[in-house]
Amino acid sequence: MEPISSICPIDSSCANQISALLSPPSPPLLQEYYHTLLSATHFTAIKVQQDASFSKGVYAAMDFKEGDLVLKDHMLVGVQHYHNKIDCFVCSFCFRFIGSIELQIGRRLYLQQLNASMSHDCDEMDSFDEEEITEQCGSSSSSKTKIPLPEGVVESLMNGQLILPYSKEFSMPPSVPCSGGCGEAYYCSMSCAEADWESSHSLLCTGERSGPEHREALLKFIKHANETNDIFLLAAKAISSTILRYRKLKANHFEEQVKFDKSCVANNDNFSLLLEAWRPISMGYKRRWWDCIALPDDIDSSDEPSFRMQIKELAFESLQLLKTAIFDKECEPLFSLEIYGQIIGMFELNNLDLVVASPVEDYFLYIDDLTYPNKEDAEKITQPILDVLGEDYSICCQGTAFFPLQSCMNHSCCPNAKAFKRDEDRDGQATIIALRSIGKGEEITISYVDEDLPFDERQASLADYGFRCRCPKCIEEEP
Ligand SMILES: [Zn+2]
Ligand SMILES: [Zn+2]
Ligand SMILES: [Zn+2]
Repeated sequence: MEPISSICPIDSSCANQISALLSPPSPPLLQEYYHTLLSATHFTAIKVQQDASFSKGVYAAMDFKEGDLVLKDHMLVGVQHYHNKIDCFVCSFCFRFIGSIELQIGRRLYLQQLNASMSHDCDEMDSFDEEEITEQCGSSSSSKTKIPLPEGVVESLMNGQLILPYSKEFSMPPSVPCSGGCGEAYYCSMSCAEADWESSHSLLCTGERSGPEHREALLKFIKHANETNDIFLLAAKAISSTILRYRKLKANHFEEQVKFDKSCVANNDNFSLLLEAWRPISMGYKRRWWDCIALPDDIDSSDEPSFRMQIKELAFESLQLLKTAIFDKECEPLFSLEIYGQIIGMFELNNLDLVVASPVEDYFLYIDDLTYPNKEDAEKITQPILDVLGEDYSICCQGTAFFPLQSCMNHSCCPNAKAFKRDEDRDGQATIIALRSIGKGEEITISYVDEDLPFDERQASLADYGFRCRCPKCIEEEP
């Protein structure tokens, strides 16, 4: 087989620019970036610091008590998992649930029915999706033994004609459709819609505003990602946001030039603007995806080289589709396989889950907690719906995201903090809570794995993140 390095011409034609983009940020730049990020979110009680070997860590800048909020971290980019879009209707920017309890339930039942009736298309899907679809087919076939909802109930839940008892207690922001007309992105507010449009969606929207050619290419890219790995959608958002930041910087720069009557913007200047636009992505620890992805259990170590080559080819396939859709000559290095692989590797290594609890779960728990006769009255209407939803009624919004500050937190098997959503945390931000008191100056650590696992299993899981844990617990338990 032809070596793939010769297939991506941008890797060699932009080699110098690529290595400039990938060189680790200088300590002052890094300090400035995290300082700005922390002041913008008003979390001044922590600091990001580098140790002697330049690896990052998060440190307490004041004392914390057990249960204190340490940090709320805004995601840099995030996506909802493809199959989760059936179950949860959320803002495409902040991942807050939108619409109403009725719309959440009606929409889910409607899409499940639609999915079940199309289940014969399952064989077109790859194994991952097949599993999901079979699961859903499975649950809908088991629901055949249950009494189906009377005709029209799903429709009237969706169009607002049927109001469920006490649903007003769980009000959500009304949904705002994407102004680009894609019918895919919905938001909790105009401000989320605008922020998403400006940060990446204007390049990734498949609506009328995008033009037919662009649209067709984008749809191909998205289909490929949905069928293989949605980490590609995250990478596309990272690249789009860098391009859009670059264009904005360039426009501002040009205005300045005109103001001071300077000559035209030189090429060198353009690249320094691209470097600046790239800065948020430059901060994350990176390796090439095909080098750092963990070898799946069912693959023999003798097949490792061919597995890694397949992953590289998959990335190249996805990149070519993305390039057809949104290529920008001035940002050419971003479309090299090297950069694409490093961005995806950064997400793979940080692998942070996006989770938002479902108000539908809260709703049914609330009904269950009512007392006689209110409970009986309400359940006359809600019980048949709960029966049809089955055990999946409580499914939360799930996805993957990159959190710039949380990703700087180091691991410990006896951590002093953890990611934990409190009742009031209703969007996709990461929330970090102190597990015990933390003194000023102490490093804040979280556990990347289940810290109650035995020593060997912990070390094996942590090897996927590329390190061997030397925390006090591991030193003590080391055989
Ligand atoms: Zn929102
Ligand atoms: Zn759109
Ligand atoms: Zn450990």
